[in-house]
Amino acid sequence: MDVDTRLAEAWVRAIAAAVEQEHERLTELDSAIGDGDHGSNLRRGFAAVLTALDGPDGPDAPAPAGPGTVLTKTGSTLISKVGGASGPLYGKAFRAIGAALPQPGQPPADAAGFGEALAAGLRAVRDLGKAEPGDKTIVDAWTPALDAYREAVAGGAGLPAAAEAAAAGAERGARDTVPLQARKGRASYLGPRSIGHQDPGATSTALLFRALAEAAA
Ligand code: ADP
Ligand code: MG
Ligand code: MG
Repeated sequence: MDVDTRLAEAWVRAIAAAVEQEHERLTELDSAIGDGDHGSNLRRGFAAVLTALDGPDGPDAPAPAGPGTVLTKTGSTLISKVGGASGPLYGKAFRAIGAALPQPGQPPADAAGFGEALAAGLRAVRDLGKAEPGDKTIVDAWTPALDAYREAVAGGAGLPAAAEAAAAGAERGARDTVPLQARKGRASYLGPRSIGHQDPGATSTALLFRALAEAAA
């Protein structure tokens, strides 16, 4: 399976649907160790992303968008619509993924190429947020997701199986944030009191990779 415009759009729409369904849980998690807005932040952001995709330069645009354009636009919309840490972090990540994909006219990315794009997304998160693995952030779900994705591809998996492995890796990573003490973001202000709660951002990253698995299935 190649990474085409259909897949990129299906991924973004699946994330928007998951956020719509899970925003209360994300906000509850953020109420425990943050300021209780993670679900509403992402809900507002992905609603705006859907509007942008369907807008005048969306599917009806004269020039075909291409998967890179879809994801770059997703990122730019998140940056402009979502305040808080997660907007710029996810925004930069999607822009980096979009920029790492082949430009229109070039052959589309395969499973390995898409893995490189996902790696660029994680690099963008780390460059901006300076979080290390173990700091109880988005990085703690994205890192095992990428590791599992790459391992699956190295073992011969195509995109659907690699995305499924990534989703399982992200979900495990999110669960594994529970015993961690937050060292970045608002939750870090709580010090040891951040221990015992699952990180909201790692949880939404797990939704993001689960949505990829659904879109690629
Ligand atoms: P805010 O904390 O500004 O209200 P959100 O609630 O939308 O923003 O997002 C909070 C999530 O952002 C956290 O659960 C954490 O996973 C993530 N996060 C915060 N700071 C960083 C960082 N420096 N690097 C990576 N992720 C971070
Ligand atoms: Mg918050
Ligand atoms: Mg906030």
